[in-house]
Amino acid sequence: MARKRVIIDCYTDEPAGLGVPPFLGTHPRIVFGELKGKADCLTIDDLRVFSLAMKLTDSKLDPPTGKTRIDLLNRTRSPEEVKKLLSSADQIIAVAGLQTPGKYLAAQPAGLKEISRLLKPSKATKILTGPAASVGTQQMGGFAAEMPESGIFNHIREYNFDNYEDMQASFMKGAGLLKQIPSERIIEIETGRGCSRRSGCSFCTEPLKQKLSWRSPELIIEEVKELNDNGASRFRLGKQSCIYSYMNSDPEKIEQLLSGIKALKPSVFHIDNANPAFVNKELTELFVKYLTPGSTAAMGAETFDPEVCRLNNLNSSPENTFRAAEIINQSGRIYGDNGMPALLPGINILLGLEGETERTLELNLLTLKNMLEKDLFVRRINIRQVVPFPGTMLYERAGDKYLRKNKHLYSAWARRVREEIDLPMLKRIFPEGHKLYGLLAETHEGNVTFLRHLGSYPIIVGIRQRLQLGRFYDAKITGHMLRSLTGELI
Ligand code: SF4
Repeated sequence: MARKRVIIDCYTDEPAGLGVPPFLGTHPRIVFGELKGKADCLTIDDLRVFSLAMKLTDSKLDPPTGKTRIDLLNRTRSPEEVKKLLSSADQIIAVAGLQTPGKYLAAQPAGLKEISRLLKPSKATKILTGPAASVGTQQMGGFAAEMPESGIFNHIREYNFDNYEDMQASFMKGAGLLKQIPSERIIEIETGRGCSRRSGCSFCTEPLKQKLSWRSPELIIEEVKELNDNGASRFRLGKQSCIYSYMNSDPEKIEQLLSGIKALKPSVFHIDNANPAFVNKELTELFVKYLTPGSTAAMGAETFDPEVCRLNNLNSSPENTFRAAEIINQSGRIYGDNGMPALLPGINILLGLEGETERTLELNLLTLKNMLEKDLFVRRINIRQVVPFPGTMLYERAGDKYLRKNKHLYSAWARRVREEIDLPMLKRIFPEGHKLYGLLAETHEGNVTFLRHLGSYPIIVGIRQRLQLGRFYDAKITGHMLRSLTGELI
């Protein structure tokens, strides 16, 4: 009799690649493809509901006076079906790993402790895979990594391939996973692995996981077509260290890739991850031409302190990052039909790097203020505390020394960024009365509904009205919070 296999998507977030709903990452698709599509796929939310032996009612999942249970939101089946699948499974494969943990509006990824607790009662063979199986995982920035230990797992393994040609069959078969996912998802597309720099940034896990290789436009377009045939229409070229350096920044290859996907008429087509050192006018114009509006080129500036850049072997100087933000603004800030600018820069700041001082935080704030004063649009500033993963230069040389030393400064400093940069920036990009179209209602908090575009780094809009979740709405902006907007339906 054929073995019964169940894949559990516990959600993944890496420097290159996101698989937290509403995104669907590459890892569960590759595992599903590797198993030739002969597996059932559940989410960690399905498992949570099952283990709680909860009688699901709307008021428990989405209480009228409280918050929507985002840890239970991304269920794929009824608890009865989940029970049947788990009790008959011979093998359970948990896909997990957070290496750039963030805050998530509509999902709660699981750490190894929770996964182990939930899977312990099962008699099936248990396998751990995904980023957690390589260099570990951590749900909170600023804390030590949780390393993969056998514990309840019979095997810890990565689904690795020597090259993208060998991997293509799994990608193609993996598209069938969509048939088991009822909710709207943005599909994360892999264009490359590893990092183009010979020795990487001090904190980064990407160079530890694999050598640099790019996936050809033909293979990517073939997979996107297959995903499209399986019902997907929203895609992000997000699983690579830098989309601007795709195939050695060859404009012809990049245009071949973009035009090939655009020809499939995706409703959302975005990018992620741009190394500021590779941003140029020609490629930016190509992205603006082919992407759908609302895309963000998230740039890992990490710091604007030149000494910290040097000590941590960072990919870009403060001047480079500033220049890259200017270049993206030149062609990216035109508004599209959903009310969003076409393509804006995003800035990632990382706290706790080697050499960080109080002056580093001042320099970061000064440079961001300078962007504001130069009338630039910056879509969002992502502030994270580093997780020193074993094997990285940061782990070997400094560990959490600078986190411990400077932690007391972080929250007041971050508050200043939110008040002095983010708030005026939001008012600039989304002035009162501005209209946004096609926002998905995702969660409630009491009488307020939170909506976003399905896309990359979407802005959150809170509407003081209890709207039906899972539906799309249009809204007019009525006010500004530090990192989100308030609005009313139009
Ligand atoms: S440039 Fe730095 S942050 Fe980006 S993938 Fe390479 S090592 Fe990681």
